[in-house]
Amino acid sequence: MTLSENEQETSPIVSKTGYFTHPDCRRHEMGPGHPECPERLDAIEDRLLVSGVGAGLDHRIAPEASIGDLELAHSKMHVAAMRGLGQEVKEAINAGGPAYAAIDPDTAMNVHTWSAITHAAGAALAATDAVMAGELENAFCAVRPPGHHATRDRAMGFCFFNNVAVAAKYALERHGLKRVAVVDFDVHHGNGTEDILGGDPRALMVGIFQHPFYPYSGDGSSYDNMVNIPVPAYTKGADIREMIEMLWMPRLEEFKPQMIFISAGFDAHREDDLGQLRMNESDYSWITMRVKDIARKYANGRIVSSLEGGYNLSALGRSVEAHLRALADL
Ligand SMILES: [Zn+2]
Repeated sequence: MTLSENEQETSPIVSKTGYFTHPDCRRHEMGPGHPECPERLDAIEDRLLVSGVGAGLDHRIAPEASIGDLELAHSKMHVAAMRGLGQEVKEAINAGGPAYAAIDPDTAMNVHTWSAITHAAGAALAATDAVMAGELENAFCAVRPPGHHATRDRAMGFCFFNNVAVAAKYALERHGLKRVAVVDFDVHHGNGTEDILGGDPRALMVGIFQHPFYPYSGDGSSYDNMVNIPVPAYTKGADIREMIEMLWMPRLEEFKPQMIFISAGFDAHREDDLGQLRMNESDYSWITMRVKDIARKYANGRIVSSLEGGYNLSALGRSVEAHLRALADL
């Protein structure tokens, strides 16, 4: 049919994969030499520009999450404490005091952190809305700080609010879904997400992480809805794929999630010195495709992925490119 060929040629390319971020996610920083640095987002954006992958995505600016939405996953006390600390940093700077408020040796707020953390969670919420509305098939949130170590009551390990857990709760509570899955392939155990979703039969979390390693949890979880795969340092990508195939996939098939969230940490990459696992770009591409198979089978393809770790800037850029190529069929 010549007509439809012509139509195809002239109609604008509509991307089905969203890319959510916010300028303030770059302004949060925790002091010189900290691995969770603003340059991480630059490395991703540079790579997407140079590779041409960025041109195939629907770019959107993330809104702020509301206090009520943050409280779907966090206690009122924790949300208020973060807001209060953000305010204290502002006042301290105005009074000539220090530029950071430390929460633990790895985690601190600067004057932009409150805006960064509310927009990082807001990105996952807006992505959820767009995917649920059918405007996008799936989406990636290029945000920082990451979220998967933040528990219901506590900020830790570079994380303040648990972006993925807030969005998973939002999909259940505000969109009325009955089953959501969380996939976490960061090198560190997503203890915060386990704390928030553990024991909730509407959620299934599958994770693979180096163990024993920070935060020294996840081995022998007591929750039925947690499928944890602790693996020793130096485990190869091929072995990780085999374990995922054997242990994650049957549980995901059985659960039939209506939507899938990904805690997309890329610090299990062989070039990342923060962890000692041996994954590479093709492993990230493979995992993404396997998750997409489940999403297309049970969830109309609905996936919202949010950046967690990944500290070798070059490996991070290449890994996110591979993840996005798989998400967007590019
Ligand atoms: Zn990590």
